[in-house]
Amino acid sequence: MARTELKDLGEFGLINRLNTATKILQPSTHKGIGDDAAVLDYGGELFTLVSTDLLIEGVHFDLSYFPLKHLGYKAVSVNVSDIAAMNGTPTQITVSLAISNRFSVEALEELYAGIYLACEDYGIDLIGGDTTSSLSGLMISITALGQVAKDKVVYRNGAQKGDILCVTGDLGGAYLGLQILSREKEVFLANPEMQPQLTGLDYLVGRQLRPEARTNIIHELQDLELVPTSMIDISDGLASEILHICQQSGVGAFVFEDKIPIDKMSYETAIEFNIAPTTCALNGGEDYELLFTIKQSEFEKIKTHPNISTIGYIVDKSEGTWLKTRGDNEVKITAQGWTHF
Ligand code: ADP
Ligand code: MG
Repeated sequence: MARTELKDLGEFGLINRLNTATKILQPSTHKGIGDDAAVLDYGGELFTLVSTDLLIEGVHFDLSYFPLKHLGYKAVSVNVSDIAAMNGTPTQITVSLAISNRFSVEALEELYAGIYLACEDYGIDLIGGDTTSSLSGLMISITALGQVAKDKVVYRNGAQKGDILCVTGDLGGAYLGLQILSREKEVFLANPEMQPQLTGLDYLVGRQLRPEARTNIIHELQDLELVPTSMIDISDGLASEILHICQQSGVGAFVFEDKIPIDKMSYETAIEFNIAPTTCALNGGEDYELLFTIKQSEFEKIKTHPNISTIGYIVDKSEGTWLKTRGDNEVKITAQGWTHF
């Protein structure tokens, strides 16, 4: 049998290939693989949501600049973010750890301090998990459960021609935070006497080390009686997530470069690192903001919202997915995303 290399498929190709054989046997499995969380129907007025993520030392985090407490917080946030992306409210988590004897009990207590802080912030309960040894490094897997009213669940596949594309917060900051932390690590390795130069850069470093899931926006959308037509959280970069919504909804999109929200500090730091600020937003990832679409008739409801930007609109699939640049050019949106293999 021919050998296929992982890099030839990529993350999404691999998931698709492994999952083609999935059969749904349970009537309660309302939506399985393919969205930010699975959707389960046990009767009643609510769906149950389930999402899981795995974080590996050396791949997703580097403990030389990632304080364990922040890591615990972030591991919870990334899962809560997937529940929010279904328009849901998180309720419980389980936490599984693989640890080597390199870690002390006190170090693991720090990790848990972050996990408990996140549980408090999001109002959720830690209800179990698993602990095992690892030959090298730390691995954390968290599963989050959540709930959503059946008529309020939002998938990636509901965007329709004419809908407005919206994004919360600002983008690119987490990627730039990572660049700053990597730079300081290099400086430190070259000269351990050097102290990190992080003054004034706390916002970006915080975006990388301590992301907050946008549960607040989910509550606000509820208050506005606004149910998006589609939604996804931004874990891999705006470009990749726009393509997920477009592919799954069977539509195209026009996005305006000058509408993409980028914080002033992100902008200036990108320039300093010689990276286009827009590239950080499109391909940086880990911002954990929400990307969603709404019907044009709902625009009034979010028009003046300080944390929601409208960045483009949905078009017919045949028109493709394009970025209209500041210079009035059209650039095809492609996913760079993920190259772990
Ligand atoms: P997200 O970035 O929102 O966490 P992913 O891109 O990781 O989503 O996953 C997309 C979908 O594929 C999800 O429904 C997820 O549960 C599913 N998935 C990912 N990896 C696997 C796997 N190894 N086996 C089965 N399903 C998977
Ligand atoms: Mg997601």
